[in-house]
Amino acid sequence: MSSRTLRTPLLTWVIALAVVTVAAAGFTLATVSALRDEAARPVAADLRLIRALHELGDAMSRVRINAVKAAFSIERSQRDEVDWQSVRSQARVDAAFASIKAILAEGQASTSFMPILEARWQDYAKAQEALVPASLLAPRAQAVPQDEILARLNELVNVVTSNPYGELVATLSAAMRAVEADATERLTATDAILGRVVPVQAATAVGVLALCLGLGLFLVGRVTTPLAKVAASLERMAVGDATEPDGLTDDRREFGRIAAHLERLRTNMRLGQKTEAERRTLSQTSDWLQSAKSEEELYSMVSTVLSRLIPECRGALYVYSGSRDTLDLAESWNDATGPETIHPDDCWGLRRGRLYVHGANPVEFRCGHVHEPDAQHYCCLPILAHGETIGLLHLAHGSAGPCDATAFAESRRLGMLAAEHIALAIANMKLREQLLDQSIRDVLTGLYNRRYLLERGRSEFLRAQRLGAPVSLLSIDVDHFKAFNDNFGHDAGDTVLRAVSEVLQRGATPTGVACRFGGEEFLILLPGTAAPEAMAQAEVIRREVETLTIRYAESDLPRISVSVGVAAYPVSGQTLQEVMRVADATLYEAKRGGRNRVVLSEDPLAAREEAQAG
Ligand code: GH3
Ligand code: MG
Ligand code: MG
Repeated sequence: MSSRTLRTPLLTWVIALAVVTVAAAGFTLATVSALRDEAARPVAADLRLIRALHELGDAMSRVRINAVKAAFSIERSQRDEVDWQSVRSQARVDAAFASIKAILAEGQASTSFMPILEARWQDYAKAQEALVPASLLAPRAQAVPQDEILARLNELVNVVTSNPYGELVATLSAAMRAVEADATERLTATDAILGRVVPVQAATAVGVLALCLGLGLFLVGRVTTPLAKVAASLERMAVGDATEPDGLTDDRREFGRIAAHLERLRTNMRLGQKTEAERRTLSQTSDWLQSAKSEEELYSMVSTVLSRLIPECRGALYVYSGSRDTLDLAESWNDATGPETIHPDDCWGLRRGRLYVHGANPVEFRCGHVHEPDAQHYCCLPILAHGETIGLLHLAHGSAGPCDATAFAESRRLGMLAAEHIALAIANMKLREQLLDQSIRDVLTGLYNRRYLLERGRSEFLRAQRLGAPVSLLSIDVDHFKAFNDNFGHDAGDTVLRAVSEVLQRGATPTGVACRFGGEEFLILLPGTAAPEAMAQAEVIRREVETLTIRYAESDLPRISVSVGVAAYPVSGQTLQEVMRVADATLYEAKRGGRNRVVLSEDPLAAREEAQAG
């Protein structure tokens, strides 16, 4: 999951949580406010009721006063005025009463007063009717006798004094005040509760909001951003890029730990990539080494490869000499200075038959072959192939100063890997050379065989034809060899053949190629040599064979001799076959001439004809 897709829902959740918190706080405050209003409502209703009762009492007093006034009003204009005021007062009484009824009907005040009020109202209505009858109000003073007026006045006084609402108003007022006091008390209690609840609620809301903000910042800073880095790191690693760090290693929390593990993975990956690269390089190196045509080429390749693979090391490759008593320097690289030849006893690696590291242990001895003053840290790796030590790889790390132990160990590791490939390549090279040697050399004498000579002869002839150079052939046969064999045995015969071969080998140098053509017949190919020189060389060989003393079974064998026929390109023939035939014919000429002699084909044409006839 990418960081963006994770961050968006997280932030959405945080914002949603903040909104819900604010809404909950608002709802709580609204509810508390409504509760307070609810608590305050009876107080307001009761106050209105008390005011209405006072209004009622006042209006009723007016009604009585007007009634008195009406009773004593003689003039018509006065009466009309009083009547008018009576109607208004009555209307006020009605309005006040209706208001009281309405307030009580709202149910906000104590409804228990309702029946009392109703009963008193009935009394009032009756008293009112009795108080101001139409008969009294209509004709007024003229129609009503004096004593009736007096009686009415008495009644009025009685009525006024026994105001039916006075008691009611007093009762209601007292009750209302009690209700008011109770409501005020409740309001005060509610306010006290609100005083405690509201700050807590507000603090909770602010706290939750701060929490949301903190959570949001935490999620972004500590979760999604590191996650994004981890994801990017993993993405890079997935495509094999182990170079760039994710910058999380300073974090001590989980992401820090993840980053530490990732760093470890990255290190392992880098190590793996390095190892893989080394493996590839060594594998390619191995291919190159295997395809080397000669030991010299192989050693030169080793030098090139190791100087690049372990550039911080000077190195030298030693290979056992043929006699196996010393090791010869095959190649050295990176300005290494070492002896040309070392004795196996001079090297602790060779003496102990395993890797010897100098410069890494408290107790150590320097190898006799290491003379460099700055070669404090070096290793000697015996090169083993097919269970046999075939050489030594010497690697000297850095200079005389302090050495990076890890780098030194790494050089050794690479050296050991390389040594395995080098050993295999050298062993293969030796094996190849051995096989090749076996296929082109004669087992008994060590000289080249017929197959090799024919092949080499063809290429030498082609070269000679191209350059216009001469090529000579010496056809050599041991004289009376059959008799020798018969007299001294086949084994003695073999000894003779080996001795003659050594002479031929020496006589063929420096450019000649000596071969055993078959039985006791030999051929020497002399590239670049004309007939006269070939003749001289053949004569040297003949003389040396003649004087050869061969020991066999602790006694000297009789002396032997060889006959040699000499032919040359281009005088004796144009092709190898032609020249060989002429050399053969000339050899038989030598045989016929008495053996133990060298004969040059004087008349090439005659010799050739003879060869063709033979
Ligand atoms: P000539 O002087 O005319 O060459 O006489 P020769 O006896 O040397 O010639 P011949 O061809 O009659 O005899 C060659 C002998 O060489 C026959 C054979 O027994 C012997 N011979 C061939 N190959 C070998 C070998 O590998 N070892 C031994 N000991 N003898 C061999
Ligand atoms: Mg022969
Ligand atoms: Mg012979």
